[in-house]
Amino acid sequence: MNAPNSSVVSPIVLVTGGSRGIGAAVALLAASKGCAVAVNYHGNLAAAEAVVGQIRAQGGKAISVQADVAVEAQVLAMFARVDAELGRLTALVNNAGVVDMPARVDAMSVARLTRMFNTNVLGSFVCAREAVLRMSTKHGGQGGAIVNLSSAAARLGSPGQYVDYAASKGAIDSFTVGLAKEVAAEGIRVNAVRPGIIDTEIHASGGLPDRVAQTVGMVPMQRGGSAHEVAQAIVWLLSNEASYTTGAVLDVTGGR
Ligand code: NDP
Repeated sequence: MNAPNSSVVSPIVLVTGGSRGIGAAVALLAASKGCAVAVNYHGNLAAAEAVVGQIRAQGGKAISVQADVAVEAQVLAMFARVDAELGRLTALVNNAGVVDMPARVDAMSVARLTRMFNTNVLGSFVCAREAVLRMSTKHGGQGGAIVNLSSAAARLGSPGQYVDYAASKGAIDSFTVGLAKEVAAEGIRVNAVRPGIIDTEIHASGGLPDRVAQTVGMVPMQRGGSAHEVAQAIVWLLSNEASYTTGAVLDVTGGR
């Protein structure tokens, strides 16, 4: 739970997709503020271990935990490991997310849509469910904070590129508002961050490795953001400095 007189984030944090990009920046920043961090990854053990190693080298506490957030059994096993090795969770960052190759809706396969929605939406719901079961005062917990990763795409729609991704992030916005209200009286704050164009490997995974350079002209601040700049917003939302903020969706987009 957020200590009433503390500006530090909740002490036991799970970051899904914490091995790379924005998630790795969140894991490092949260650890620097004294949190024990569970660094979830999907396939890249080396990247997860590098984040954990950096945290431990600075005297912090961290573990790496493999799980595909789209698979319920793996999520359950991940939470069980966090329970056993770090203790009762007080913060969740639903960060794991995927894009896909640029395509129009009239060319999208069900396999593509299933992966997109199972990872970005279903994964966030199941992780939040498990977090609420541990944090809610209704379930014997001491409260906590959840931050979901949305995207500016939820507002922009991403036509001709990945409307499926944009729609999955639109679902995250609604999920954030609804869950925030549902658990507000149970000690849990739920917020979302909507990053704009951030310099991570996600663009290469969607077949657009130069996307940041190619799109900076569309950004009022005329540059892409860094993972650390997004992490600062997320870690603030986890902290007690955001103690009266819930159901908020915060744009971190350079004005886009
Ligand atoms: P990256 O592609 O750089 O990193 C993705 C992370 O998610 C990795 O740690 C990866 O693990 C993990 N991951 C992917 N799929 C799964 C899965 N099924 N189960 C568990 N973990 C998984 O992404 P970003 O840091 O750029 O993005 C993070 C979040 O921010 C996403 O939700 C994304 O949609 C959102 N976002 C990003 C923007 C950007 O411009 N970068 C803009 C707007 C929103 P592994 O290392 O094992 O592969």
